[in-house]
Amino acid sequence: MGLMPIYPPRPDPFECAICGKQQPLQWCDMSQMDYPPICWTCEQYGWRLGPVTRKPDMRLAKQIAALSEALSEEASRKIYEEARHG
Ligand SMILES: [Zn+2]
Repeated sequence: MGLMPIYPPRPDPFECAICGKQQPLQWCDMSQMDYPPICWTCEQYGWRLGPVTRKPDMRLAKQIAALSEALSEEASRKIYEEARHG
């Protein structure tokens, strides 16, 4: 141990706050390790929020943006369904 100080330790298992999948995956590359509460896929690809990045501070910014997009999409979907079903 102690040979790879670049990456944080593998997080405890968690469910992605956006897609609900169990993370992290066993085979997950350490450079693409999921940060709770959002999986790598949702964080990087789910919301087209710019190029894929592995920089921790950029990843955090992407997570926040992805969460905010997911929340606003969820909210507008609910409003739409309430309007439809009255
Ligand atoms: Zn996800």
